[in-house]
Amino acid sequence: MNIEEARALILDVPDYPIAGIIFKDLTPLLADSESFAVTIQALRDLIENPDAIDHVAGIEARGFIFGAALAHHLNKGFITIRKPGKLPRKTLSREYSLEYGTGKLEIHEDLLPRGSRVLIIDDVLATGGTALAAAGLVEDAGGTVAQFAFVLEISALKGHERLTSSYPKTPITSIFYS
Ligand code: AMP
Repeated sequence: MNIEEARALILDVPDYPIAGIIFKDLTPLLADSESFAVTIQALRDLIENPDAIDHVAGIEARGFIFGAALAHHLNKGFITIRKPGKLPRKTLSREYSLEYGTGKLEIHEDLLPRGSRVLIIDDVLATGGTALAAAGLVEDAGGTVAQFAFVLEISALKGHERLTSSYPKTPITSIFYS
């Protein structure tokens, strides 16, 4: 299977979770062993220099799936950036707004060695609020943001531009664009 065949497995679900949103459903892509494998390889190919990355940080929940597989592929540690109340020890937190509502993310405060170079990964880049909050948390925890990686970017929602204005020198990469 090639990456375009994997892309064809992503489904558009209109009006989910609320009217007006077209939800990108990646579960069929995950369910197929070949499309999952080519997608992880494509994420790997977005990284110019793996030696310039120390950790992969995934955003709950779908960022965990792609992020953990990518981290394993790269032989890097994996950092969980979670929704509130899930992490058992002392956390740092950031609030943010997203395409449908508001949210909050947390990270364990002592997880990153100071200066660790972190690739932040999520399934979909929409308005960029989630990824910006995750980036802020990485920095609050003592790391630096080495790269943003997404499976799919929804270009019309301008998340890329929003990330670029805060992180002009940081690569913002996606496999697919819609
Ligand atoms: P944003 O903060 O607006 O960039 O939203 C990105 C986050 O919300 C990611 O964690 C996505 O999983 C989720 N998300 C936002 N919009 C969509 C969408 N249309 N389809 C699927 N997931 C989405």
